[in-house]
Amino acid sequence: MTPLKTRLPIYLPDATRGVVKSLDTNDLLNCGVEGVVVNTLHLAETPGLDYLRKIGGVKKLMGFEGLVVSDSGGWQLFSLIHRSNSQGSITNDGVFFKNGTNRKNIFTPEDSISSQFDIGSDILICLDDFTPPNSNSLRERESVERTILWAQRCKAEFERQVDKRSLSDTSLPLLFSVIQGGFDRKLRAQCASELIAIGFDGYGYGGYAVTENGLDLELSKFVADLIPNDKYKFALGSGTLSDIANLAGYGWQIFDCTLPTRDARHGRLYIYNSALNFPAEYVYIERSKFSEDQSPIDDTCDCHTCKNFTKSYLHHLFKIKDFTAYRLATIHNLRCYTRLTEFLRKPSI
Ligand SMILES: [Zn+2]
Repeated sequence: MTPLKTRLPIYLPDATRGVVKSLDTNDLLNCGVEGVVVNTLHLAETPGLDYLRKIGGVKKLMGFEGLVVSDSGGWQLFSLIHRSNSQGSITNDGVFFKNGTNRKNIFTPEDSISSQFDIGSDILICLDDFTPPNSNSLRERESVERTILWAQRCKAEFERQVDKRSLSDTSLPLLFSVIQGGFDRKLRAQCASELIAIGFDGYGYGGYAVTENGLDLELSKFVADLIPNDKYKFALGSGTLSDIANLAGYGWQIFDCTLPTRDARHGRLYIYNSALNFPAEYVYIERSKFSEDQSPIDDTCDCHTCKNFTKSYLHHLFKIKDFTAYRLATIHNLRCYTRLTEFLRKPSI
């Protein structure tokens, strides 16, 4: 297995279409972001897989040398189908869906893997079958069985692509599979053990493991313990600062979450507070009380925004809806996340 050229734990913002909205790659590096997650289906649509293959992948497109993880492409299609069955269906063969012209298409585990090779990711994720939180036990079982079946096909396609593209051992990407099973621990354990028997470089924590009180911490620990410690542990879609602090304590090492960037664009800015496991503290910058506030968002923060600009200026930029508002706010919220992962990397933790 090629080790990741990065320190852990790591937080990866969402660069769906090859960009973290409003930031360029220098902004990312300056706020300590060492990797991103890109969206396979969006990139396949534009600029297209043929173009990405021709230029040497999405890193060339972005001018980014950090870690790139691609999603399997399943999330988007499943979300569409979970909202309305008329949009498609899921079978063991793959995901059937309608595109803009209403023609039926199929997206298979093999399509997912070959697309991710074209994108040129460092970590490829197997297509898995995930269920909405209200699913019954029959559907949960089906999801686990299909996830295992698709993981086998993904692994076989991964090996075919390595041969076809004549990749050397040092340029091999890593392949992760995703552990499903909802809140059912037996199913989670079965899913993990069968995926481990197939053999992957890392394992993801899949599905919605969230209750009305937030992340199910005990289940998160249970699933982390199912994964051997010499494999990477990816807590997909997690989480708040507090979630990440907890999950890292259970051994989860890789995190991706759209919260900080989305919150930034909505003027919800974070205060970094390492006391009592990172309680959520926010500055809602659009509130009128900040119109004449001459202090930075967070005076403990070393980001470009906090070092150079006041809350008053941020408030003004949001009020006039200038693009700079989104950039400066995103830089700050991302720095909060990278400060956390830097803190968690310290051996004293
Ligand atoms: Zn800041």
